[in-house]
Amino acid sequence: MPRWMLAGRPVGRAPLVLALAIAGLLVLLFVLFRPRHAGFGGSILSRASDGKGTATIEPEGPVEAGSHGTWTIHYAAGNEGIAKGGGVVVHLPLYWDWTEPQMAAPSLPGYSAVTCSNPKVRFEAHADPGFHYVRARIVGGRLAAGDTLRFVYGDTLAGSAPAARARADSYAESVQEFLVKVDGDGDGYHEEIARSPSIEVRAAPAAQLRIYVKGEAEAAETTLVTVAALDRFGNQAADYRGTVLFSHGPETTGLPVNREFRPEDEGARSFPVRFETPGFHTIRVVAEGGGLQAVSNPIRVRPRGESSEFRLLWGDIHQHSRLSDGTGEPEDLVRYARKVGNLDLFALTDHDHHGLRPLASSWERIREAIARANDPGRFVALLAYEWTSWTYGHRNVYYPDDAGELFSFADSATNTPEELWDALPEGRALTIAHHTGGGPVPIDWSWEPPPNRERLVEISSIHGSSECFGCPKGIYDPVPGAFVHDALARGYRLGFVGSGDGHVGHPGETASPCGGLLGVYASGRTREEVWEALDARRTYATTGERIVLEVRLGVHWMGEEVSASALPDPLAFRFVACGTAPIDLVELLENGTPIDTVFGKGTAIEGSLRARRNLAASSYYYIRLTQMDGGIAWSSPIWVDP
Ligand SMILES: [Zn+2]
Ligand SMILES: [Zn+2]
Repeated sequence: MPRWMLAGRPVGRAPLVLALAIAGLLVLLFVLFRPRHAGFGGSILSRASDGKGTATIEPEGPVEAGSHGTWTIHYAAGNEGIAKGGGVVVHLPLYWDWTEPQMAAPSLPGYSAVTCSNPKVRFEAHADPGFHYVRARIVGGRLAAGDTLRFVYGDTLAGSAPAARARADSYAESVQEFLVKVDGDGDGYHEEIARSPSIEVRAAPAAQLRIYVKGEAEAAETTLVTVAALDRFGNQAADYRGTVLFSHGPETTGLPVNREFRPEDEGARSFPVRFETPGFHTIRVVAEGGGLQAVSNPIRVRPRGESSEFRLLWGDIHQHSRLSDGTGEPEDLVRYARKVGNLDLFALTDHDHHGLRPLASSWERIREAIARANDPGRFVALLAYEWTSWTYGHRNVYYPDDAGELFSFADSATNTPEELWDALPEGRALTIAHHTGGGPVPIDWSWEPPPNRERLVEISSIHGSSECFGCPKGIYDPVPGAFVHDALARGYRLGFVGSGDGHVGHPGETASPCGGLLGVYASGRTREEVWEALDARRTYATTGERIVLEVRLGVHWMGEEVSASALPDPLAFRFVACGTAPIDLVELLENGTPIDTVFGKGTAIEGSLRARRNLAASSYYYIRLTQMDGGIAWSSPIWVDP
């Protein structure tokens, strides 16, 4: 896989090159591997001998994430055989850290070789490192029923070239497929066999701990803390059997003194906990025997009986599974979001057509998995997908219920933003544009988002911040005019969200150098309550850190539109915040320009930032908090109209 596409390691390249390369990948995937059920004319091109035969993999046992090995795929021709000109493609795993297969250098990683059981058959073998496949094409004779082709990935030439082994992915998942596709008649059309082989990628040993508390609770209320053992890549270390010890203030009750991890915990446990006194609290956890330890995010504890009508929930609503170009099953991501990340809100946003198979073939499966994951009152899962336009930019589509449909960019009826918005049911769908300011593809803001379909914009993710051209933690391949400030300057009223755009199965984890997370002030943990909060733009974004931030203008929350004449002059934006690191500064921005600042003195801060009231023109205001470690939180804007 070209490295510029690798989530978490985006590097600078011209967007045009990027878009062309991706378009090239799509065309190539389309031509080589046209799917069977996708309405791409497979029924016209498919012949009886296509997609026939069987394949197995050796070894078929699990592999540890990040380890090296040799895998052999044995393909046996079916009764129809394979005619001259036909062949077999083995698609070695594309996502994300698998070694590129190559046939040029026998002593280098990923060396691949193909052999045939029938000496009368002549074939040509070819490896494409960038697109991770090895192909064998029959050029003489014919592969008869039972003849086999043997594809060796990481071929050490019987041990004489150990460095030729292939590296397995860093990211654990239960089903890593090796897709096998067959062109039986030689017309160039390859069809997937009935069952491609797969292996499991397991986590490496535990190398780090995580502890997460909820964003907010009332004094003496029982809330939840999660503790997880992760391997060095962030995978859930399911084999962890250590004992962890908690340390916290005397006002924190309900936690056990220590706790051993059991097999059924799969490396992650949750515990009820109560905080008796108001304020910000954290909990430290240490593994017995030393070594691993972690400190939780801060929880804001409000005085008993004085809860605000809304409460801070944490969410990651932009994640990819193996059903497009990510890692793991939808259920695995849900489990990680909830049991490791202690998140309140999750959405899976697989690409509509950017993966090995179009998402339409998995949509019912996603719909069911998300419906099952939704747990009213405790955990909210939203049905969603990513409308993936390499022309106009990417938008995630969210639904408040299980009825949502997939309107793909690959469908000519919905391949412009306007057609997409027109197709979506009013009041029952929201779109959120992301990585707007640059890589991998910027948003074309000349399409005006309808306020009843698009209320929010994703300002930060693994791709970087799209706040403004030249802003901190800026996105790669920046494109002037495509940033969030540019959209706001056009008069679009968009609140802010952050989310991971993760492809490695770890929702809620902060990525380096930039991640994304969503803080949302909702009246509770149900789809209806969260939907109301998203629609009201009562949201804020962070670069992944769980920074507590509340901003109000009088009685008005972030995200509101307010009339200036009803407000005293100067406007006083009141904020309460607690960082995960010492706070550097808190700024108020008016129409994109900082106009008032306070400096931090530690991790917690509250105060007011001021702006002159303007009775002549509309302005937008938001607060940006920056930590000493570079972490950022952005409140949604408040719009003040004359
Ligand atoms: Zn995207
Ligand atoms: Zn995405």
